[in-house]
Amino acid sequence: MSIKENLLAINKTIHDTVTLVAVSKTKPMSYIQEAYDEGQRIFGENRVQEMTEKWENLPKDIEWHMIGHLQRNKVKYMAEYVSLVHGVDSPRLLAEINKQAEKHNRIISCLLQVHIAEEDTKFGFNEEELLELVDNEQFKAYKNVKIVGLMGMATFTDNLEQIRKEFSGLKSLFTKLKSNYTDFTTLSMGMSGDYKIAIEEGSTMVRIGSSIFGSRN
Ligand SMILES: *Cc1c(COP(=O)(O)O)cnc(C)c1O
Repeated sequence: MSIKENLLAINKTIHDTVTLVAVSKTKPMSYIQEAYDEGQRIFGENRVQEMTEKWENLPKDIEWHMIGHLQRNKVKYMAEYVSLVHGVDSPRLLAEINKQAEKHNRIISCLLQVHIAEEDTKFGFNEEELLELVDNEQFKAYKNVKIVGLMGMATFTDNLEQIRKEFSGLKSLFTKLKSNYTDFTTLSMGMSGDYKIAIEEGSTMVRIGSSIFGSRN
């Protein structure tokens, strides 16, 4: 199947209330242009340098999402243009994003990453840390970041019930926070292998790579 056909097929299965992030990491710019020509405008990358090169060379109305684990010393390279940072997983990273956004006179939207998987290799806050962070006075004083929701990755497993349980747990947490924080609009969960379950459990944003662009090496 072509990128065009893959995009059409996926767009058919997701509701129009769910935002599609086309994950283009490792893929050449010609692939992104092809998806762009089909109307796709949001792309996800997990390396700042690669994303910046693509941003420099592709149409300027593309929204670039940083979806991977982010090192603080890389934030400055994308602060000028990044539109959503999915994987904020420490207070220090949030502080750095705020600082770099201020230099560009921007407000950068961020999602707090929550650790929902069994593996301890996946980054993120636990519930207690998360509640502590959103109540923190210093965090509330940040003027150049806006926390718009949560992001999570389920365990890499064939056990669909486990995946469902992890997503539904994240959705409950999201709902709980949403009642106190009006900026909370986005729940980023679901990838190629599990996005249908994620949407059933309340995802508002899916991050899909291989089902659009083919598998990565
Ligand atoms: C690579 C990646 C995706 C996309 O994965 P696919 O299985 O190719 O859809 C989604 N989210 C994150 C955080 C990723 O790193």
